[in-house]
Amino acid sequence: MTDGSQPVEEPRDATLPVRRGVLVCGVVQGVGFRPFVYRLAWEEGLAGFIGNDTDGVTIEVEGPLAGIDAFLARLRSETPPLARIDSIAVREAATIGETGFRIVASEVLGRVSTGIPADAATCPDCLRELLDPQDRRYRYPFLNCTNCGPRFTITRRIPYDRPQTSMARFPMCAACQAEYDDPRNRRFHAQPNACWECGPQVWVLQTADSEAICGEEAVERTLQLLLAGKVMAIKGIGGFHLSVDATSEAAVMRLRRRKHRYGKPLAVMVRDLDAARAVCALAAEEEALLLTAARPIVLARKREGNGIAADVAPGIPWLGVFLPYAPLQHLLFADQRVHALVMTSANLSEEPIAIDNEEARMRLAGIADAFLMHDREILQRCDDSVAAVVDGAPQLIRRARGFVPLGVALPLDAPPLLAVGGHLKNVFALARGRFVYQSQHLGDLENLAGLDFFNESLNHLMRTFEIEPRTVVHDLHPEYLSTGWAREWAQVHGLGLIAVQHHHAHVAGCMAEHGLQGPVIGLALDGTGYGTDGHIWGGEVLLSRLDGFERFAHLDYVPMPGSTAAIREPWRMALGALRAAGIDVMSSEALGLVGATEKDARLLCRMMERGVNAPLTSSLGRLFDAAAAVVLGRRVVDYEAQAAIELEGIAVNERDEEPGYAMEMVGGDWAAREPLRIGAGPLWRELLNDLRAGVSQPRIAARFHAGVAGGFVQTALRARAATGIGQVAMSGGCLHNRRLARLLRAELQAAGFEVFQHVRVSPGDGGLSYGQAVVAAAMLAKRS
Ligand SMILES: [Zn+2]
Ligand SMILES: [Zn+2]
Ligand SMILES: [Zn+2]
Repeated sequence: MTDGSQPVEEPRDATLPVRRGVLVCGVVQGVGFRPFVYRLAWEEGLAGFIGNDTDGVTIEVEGPLAGIDAFLARLRSETPPLARIDSIAVREAATIGETGFRIVASEVLGRVSTGIPADAATCPDCLRELLDPQDRRYRYPFLNCTNCGPRFTITRRIPYDRPQTSMARFPMCAACQAEYDDPRNRRFHAQPNACWECGPQVWVLQTADSEAICGEEAVERTLQLLLAGKVMAIKGIGGFHLSVDATSEAAVMRLRRRKHRYGKPLAVMVRDLDAARAVCALAAEEEALLLTAARPIVLARKREGNGIAADVAPGIPWLGVFLPYAPLQHLLFADQRVHALVMTSANLSEEPIAIDNEEARMRLAGIADAFLMHDREILQRCDDSVAAVVDGAPQLIRRARGFVPLGVALPLDAPPLLAVGGHLKNVFALARGRFVYQSQHLGDLENLAGLDFFNESLNHLMRTFEIEPRTVVHDLHPEYLSTGWAREWAQVHGLGLIAVQHHHAHVAGCMAEHGLQGPVIGLALDGTGYGTDGHIWGGEVLLSRLDGFERFAHLDYVPMPGSTAAIREPWRMALGALRAAGIDVMSSEALGLVGATEKDARLLCRMMERGVNAPLTSSLGRLFDAAAAVVLGRRVVDYEAQAAIELEGIAVNERDEEPGYAMEMVGGDWAAREPLRIGAGPLWRELLNDLRAGVSQPRIAARFHAGVAGGFVQTALRARAATGIGQVAMSGGCLHNRRLARLLRAELQAAGFEVFQHVRVSPGDGGLSYGQAVVAAAMLAKRS
C-alpha cells in the first residue's frame, strides 16, 4: 500500500490506460463524498466506480496515469466540507477496458457500510436558496443537501439510507427525486432531501389555544410571541429549545422562574458572525469555532453594553453564543426583528432534553407559552455542543450535536468493549479496533430518566456500529449508578468487568489522543473521583502508563464537612480548608470570611473532629470552591463549578505574571512509594494577609491561580528529578479553567517539559469514558 500522493510505478507509455484501486478511510459516508468523486472522475476522463465500504469508500479508476494522478491529488485538495480523509490506500489493478463511471450500491460490494455522519449546519448554498424568492425552496424550514442537514438525530439504524431515517414517511416529489438520483446534483443521495411539496411542515400551538397555525404564518407568529416576551418551545435538530428574547430582562427572568434555574448561564443564538462580534469580543479561533459545521455554543468574552440581558449569564465575564444551524432558526432571524434569542435545552433541571411533540407538550406545559413544532421526528436526543478556546486551542466542554457519532482514534487495538463513564455529565463509549465511539452528552446519571436515556442511546449506538461488547468498563466508585449498572449488565450478559480509577482514566485519555504509551507525569486536576485508598481524589500527580499508574503526589487531604453538601455549599469547604491549614476558624475574622454562624461552624468542627460525614479529599475543584467562598463570599452554588468559574472570571483582566501564593511540599519518599503531599497552608495564610491588606478581589484571584499552577509545576519538577520523565499530560475538569491551563502550560514548557492536552475529547468527565476504554484496552492487550 502506498500513499495516494505518490504515483505507483511509472509505465513506459503514459498514455496507455492503467487501473487503480483506492480505499479512502475517514468521514466519507453521507457527506457528499460519492458525488464528489463521481465529478472528479468525470472531469479527469476516468472510468470505474465508487461504493461505500465497511470503514470508508472503495474506488476503482481506469484511464491515463496522468489523469489518475490528478484525480488522487484532487481527492485530497478538494475534499467536501463535511468529509475528513484519514487515509488513502492505493493499489494496482488489472485494466478491464471499462467505460463510464458508476456509483454502486453498498450491497454490490457485499459489505455493510456502518457510517452515520454527524448533524451539520445549513450550508451557504442552502442558505442562499432559503432566502431567494425565486427558489422553489424559498423559506422552506427543512431544506438541506449532501453538505448539510440532520443525520445522526434522524437515523434509526444502519445503513444510513432514507428508509432508515425519520424521513421515511415523506415520499419525495418528482423534483426532489430527480435531484436525489442525479450524481451531478448537490442533493444526490441527500437522505433528508425535501421541499414544500413533499417534506415536513411546521406549526405553532399556543398553550391556551388548541388551534394550530401552520406554514409561513407559524414563523411570523413565533416572532410576535417572542417579541411580546413569551417563552417559546422550539423544536430543533436534537431536541426542543426553550427560547425567549435575550435582550429582555423580564422575558429572561420569566424563563428562569418557570425553569427554577437561577444562576446557570443560558446560551444565546444570534443571526450571524457579525452579530456574534457585536455581543462578544471574539478571537480568530473563536470565530472559526462558531462557524464549524457542528455550530457549538462557544464561551467567549462578553462585550460591555452588548444589549443582552444581564441575567442571561450573571456573575461571569463570558457568554455562551452560537449561530443558527437549522433553516427554521435562520428564518427566525431573517428579517432582523429579533437580534438575540436565549436557546436553552428544553428540560427541567438535569432531565434529558425533550424531543417528541407530545412529550414536549406535557413536560413543558408549565414553562412554555407556545410551541413551534414540526413533523420530522427526532430519533436521537442530542443537546448542543459547548466549546471554548483555551490557551489558543479549541476545547470541548460538552460533546454532542455535530460531533456524535464520529469516532476518535485509539493508539492500540481494542476488543469490543463498553465504557460506561462516570456520574455527572455522563457519556459512555463503545470501542472496537482502533476507534472509540462516544455517545452524546447524557447529563447526570442520578435518576431514572437519566438511566433511560443511557439505555436508549446505548441500544442505538450498539446497533449503529454493530458492536457487541465483551467487556464492560466502569469507574472505581462503588456508589455510582453507572457502576451498579455495569456490574449488573456484565452479570446478565456474562461479560468481563474492569474498574478504572477516575483520574487514571482522565490522564490515559489525554495520552491516547497523542499516541503516548508513557510513562508520563499525569496532572489530573479535577472535581471529584474515587481513589484507590477510598478517599476522594482530584489534585493528583500520577506517573501513568496506559495500563496502570503510581501516585507520585497529591493535594494534601482536607475534610469535606457534610460530604456532598460541601459541594453545593462552598462555605463548608472553606471552613474545612482553613481549619486544615491551621487557621482558627472560630475567630470572628474567619467566621466573617466564610460566612458561617458560630453555631454552624461549631457543628462542622465537631463533624470533622469525629470524622463523621466529613470524607477526606485531595480535590483541586474543592480548593477552588473554598477560595471562591473566602474571596467572593460565594456561600452556595446553583450549578456545578459555579464558584470556581466565578473566581476565574473575576481575575480575567489581571496579568498572568502576577506572583502566586506559596504551596508547600510535605513528606513524600519515592523510594518507599510514599506520595508527596502538596500543602495549601502557606497559600491560605498569604491570601488572608492580602485580604486584610485590602488587595483587590481580582488580584487575589490571580495570585491564587498562579499559586496553584506553581505548586503543580514544582511537583512536576520533583517527579522529573525522581524518575527522569519529561512528558506531562494534563486532564480533568479544572483544565476548563483558561487561566490555570494557560499558566500551567507556559510554566511547564519554560521548565523544559513537553506538555500534552486534550484535542478531540473533553478534559472533563465528558471525556472519561474515552480514557476508560483506553485503559481497559491496554490492560486486555497485556493479559493476552
Ligand atoms: Zn446544504
Ligand atoms: Zn419535494
Ligand atoms: Zn473527573
